[in-house]
Amino acid sequence: MKPFDYHRLASEEALGKMEAGRYLAGGTNLIDLMKHQIETPDALVDVTRAGMDTITETDGGLMVGSQVTNTDLASHPAVRRDYPVLSSALLSGATQQLRNKATTGGNFLQRTRCQYFYDTTRACNKRAPGSGCDALEGLNRYHAILGASEHCIAVHPSDMAVAMAALDAVVHTRKRDGETRAIPATELHRLPGDRPDIDHVLEDGELITSVELPVRPPRLQAYRKVRDRASYAFAVVSAAVALDVDDGRMRNVRIALGGVAHKPWRASRAEEMLEGQQPSAELFDRAMDAEMAEAKGQGHNDFKIRLAPRTVVAVLRDLTEVTENDE
Ligand SMILES: Cc1cc2nc3c(=O)[nH]c(=O)nc-3n(C[C@H](O)[C@H](O)[C@H](O)COP(=O)(O)OP(=O)(O)OC[C@H]3O[C@@H](n4cnc5c(N)ncnc54)[C@H](O)[C@@H]3O)c2cc1C
Ligand code: SF4
Repeated sequence: MKPFDYHRLASEEALGKMEAGRYLAGGTNLIDLMKHQIETPDALVDVTRAGMDTITETDGGLMVGSQVTNTDLASHPAVRRDYPVLSSALLSGATQQLRNKATTGGNFLQRTRCQYFYDTTRACNKRAPGSGCDALEGLNRYHAILGASEHCIAVHPSDMAVAMAALDAVVHTRKRDGETRAIPATELHRLPGDRPDIDHVLEDGELITSVELPVRPPRLQAYRKVRDRASYAFAVVSAAVALDVDDGRMRNVRIALGGVAHKPWRASRAEEMLEGQQPSAELFDRAMDAEMAEAKGQGHNDFKIRLAPRTVVAVLRDLTEVTENDE
């Protein structure tokens, strides 16, 4: 591992007064990347003791500090009660030991698990811009079917971020000059385009301070993760769904997909088709077919083009109690 300086942030207000460096939270992704020499920061700024580790109930919503661990967030009574899709997504990720260390901010900004990104002997535009993408002609079973580019077909690996996207959470940040921003979770990550080395919209040195969960989320919520093993495995495909059913019609429909794109994929086209309609198996299929109209496989991952909509439809059926034969 390359030598680096270590600093500790005392409070978010102290940000502008201290040395710049890469933020270190739980370290469960960053330290691995440093050991493999994929990331080689000159300095780390430890943000775990800067007072950003509380969950505060606001006027009906929740303000989650960026250093709240995945375990603490998943088990908080208000999260389990009002945001079960988030609790369930968090608990489907990694292992108990990892969740005890992993933080809310770090989970959002964890990097892709594309195997070529981690193998420094292979071409990867995300790790070494301009070097090519070995996944295009290589093993791409886990890769993107939506929003990919000829430069990168990686997916974002987080389960939590998929639930946050479906819940319309808002990410709060602070820059080194003290300026603060509120970024919708759906707009935090970017599609790869011709700059796959840039994962998200944060500026250099911009710190995630907290994440806001909205007031009055939809009542019916579920997260389903399809994976190769029952635990300790990233999603092949996942779906976070939240909606209300009032007077027999679907309202506030929110659907986000994981494992299909460089960012959590909000299924806006499907949402629009379902909003205000009566639930039916035929409508669910039609809405997800429309959502997947531009999906493109890379060979090994072609199966996801059917698996992703089927996963969403299965969750929609469960939540609305529509059976196979209901029309
Ligand atoms: C074996 C294994 C299995 C896993 N399985 C899953 C899984 O199934 N699902 C899943 O979702 N995840 C999984 N993970 C990933 C794990 O959830 C992430 O590594 C973890 O959430 C990252 O959080 P952290 O606090 O450790 O971040 P760190 O490793 O400390 O940081 C990650 C990145 O975020 C940046 N960062 C951290 N905090 C901030 C902040 N407040 N502001 C700005 N930048 C910040 C860091 O600079 C770094 O670039 C797995 C990890 C391992 C090792
Ligand atoms: S898919 Fe992206 S991360 Fe994977 S090798 Fe290609 S450029 Fe690198």
